[in-house]
Amino acid sequence: MNDQWRVLLISDDRALCDHLTEIFTEEGHHVFLAHSPSEGLSRWRGRRFDLILLDLALPAMKGLTTLQRIRAQDQNTCVVVLIAHDEIRDAIEAVRQGADGYIEKHQLTSEADLAEFFHIIQRALEIRRSQVSRSRLEQEIRQTNEELEETIGQLEQARTELHEEQHRLKHILFSLSELVIVVDTSEQVVLINPSAARELGMAPEHILGRPITQLSIHPRVLEGIRHVIPSEETLQLELPRLRTDSVDHQRAFRATFNPVRSEHGLLLGVVIVLHDITQEKELEQMKIDFYSMIVHDLRSPATAIIGFTDLLAQEAVGPLNAAQREIVEIIQRSVRKLLNLINDFLDYSAIDAGFLRLEKRNTNLNELIRHAVHEIRPLANQRQQILEVRMPSDPVIALLDDERINQVLSNLLSNAIKYTPEGGHITVSLREDPEHVIIEVSDTGIGIPQDQIPLLFSKYARARNARARQIKGTGLGLLIVKEIVQAHGGKIAVESSVGEGSTFRVTLPRAEATSSVQPPLYPERQEDPAITAMTAEEVAVLSSRR
Ligand code: ADP
Repeated sequence: MNDQWRVLLISDDRALCDHLTEIFTEEGHHVFLAHSPSEGLSRWRGRRFDLILLDLALPAMKGLTTLQRIRAQDQNTCVVVLIAHDEIRDAIEAVRQGADGYIEKHQLTSEADLAEFFHIIQRALEIRRSQVSRSRLEQEIRQTNEELEETIGQLEQARTELHEEQHRLKHILFSLSELVIVVDTSEQVVLINPSAARELGMAPEHILGRPITQLSIHPRVLEGIRHVIPSEETLQLELPRLRTDSVDHQRAFRATFNPVRSEHGLLLGVVIVLHDITQEKELEQMKIDFYSMIVHDLRSPATAIIGFTDLLAQEAVGPLNAAQREIVEIIQRSVRKLLNLINDFLDYSAIDAGFLRLEKRNTNLNELIRHAVHEIRPLANQRQQILEVRMPSDPVIALLDDERINQVLSNLLSNAIKYTPEGGHITVSLREDPEHVIIEVSDTGIGIPQDQIPLLFSKYARARNARARQIKGTGLGLLIVKEIVQAHGGKIAVESSVGEGSTFRVTLPRAEATSSVQPPLYPERQEDPAITAMTAEEVAVLSSRR
């Protein structure tokens, strides 16, 4: 409040009014006079005053009523009542109704002590001021309280919702048939659902908080976790079983490892979801068994036809005239094609089911190559192609499935013949180093465009080469070749230039390498280890040879 007050003086005592006006004006204050309650109220309305001096001895409407009407709407302005000497009760009542002080009129004579008068006014002003700030404070406290209550209400609501959500999630998690395990970044189990705990043969409370390394769990689970934690990438792999200690019924699982991140993207751990694929695997096995059963049913008649037509061709059952010979040769070619198709299809089916059985034995590769070349030579002769073999004179021995490697050779050789024009040159070579045997099949054929090479080994792949399109094929041969080579822990490389020719190089380990026959741990991320590009040096060697 500034030092100059705006004072509203309501009194019908004109002498008193003049006197007080003089007193206040002398002190630099502004006085507004009202000689009746109604005049006083109309002056007060809509204006701001620091002080109202209200004479309680007003006629018509008593001073107290005026005070009540002011206080009903205005809690801020200081009101001091003026009373006669014997009206002390009225003064008490006025203070009860909201007056901030009272002054007895007789104290306002000209000889009166003005200091005492202003002291009472000052105190009344302070009382009102503290009253105002108290009610403001009360108001603020009320408001803060209301806000707090609202916040508490919202928190309660959020807590209830969170609780329900947690309950719902827990319920979902617990009723999942999938096995769920969550570990934190220090590999401790922080969550496990009953299905997973049951599979591990332990109560969830005995698993929670324990490092996963302490559980009898398949080592691939740990490998998966240790892959996801640094890389933060999703990973999927198959487990032949979850428990490593002996249990009666072992189930196979497809495990998906997903990183768990906070809302700020910080890695919190890994969630592992295990899906039971035992039945899938059993079905696959049944499919494979079925395929191997029909192998005989389909192959036997074809083999018999080949045998008998060979007898006919050799004229073992009597001489053939030219027309008969031509027919027999057509039958021979067709049935060989049929047998190849059957073999390709059956091999592909076994590979597609993820199952390729190898029966390895020490094999003389020189003999194997000689045999394969002998088998295919008639085809090369028909096309007037030169079929050259380059091998060391000493036998090269390796631990292989000879039938499968023979299949690789026949595939590569028949491709070389198929995709090389008449009169072309095909070379099969064999060499060795202390750990590997290397077989190369080169031709001077149509070649393969560079961008097609990585695709050759996928299902039904046929190079987008106009000339290749005119030659019949299923696009399965190289896929089978790759799978056989890979199952041996070997590699296949291709080098080719369009119009000049191609070289397919197969590198196989001489002895069994245990790790290489394992299926890859991260199949969907790993580059195909069986297919590699040749180094520049190797390319140069090959080019100079052609
Ligand atoms: P198919 O020969 O039955 O089509 P393959 O899987 O054996 O299937 O071969 C896939 C494709 O690779 C062929 O269609 C052909 O385009 C290409 N290819 C394979 N070998 C050769 C080769 N020696 N020369 C040129 N192209 C070849």
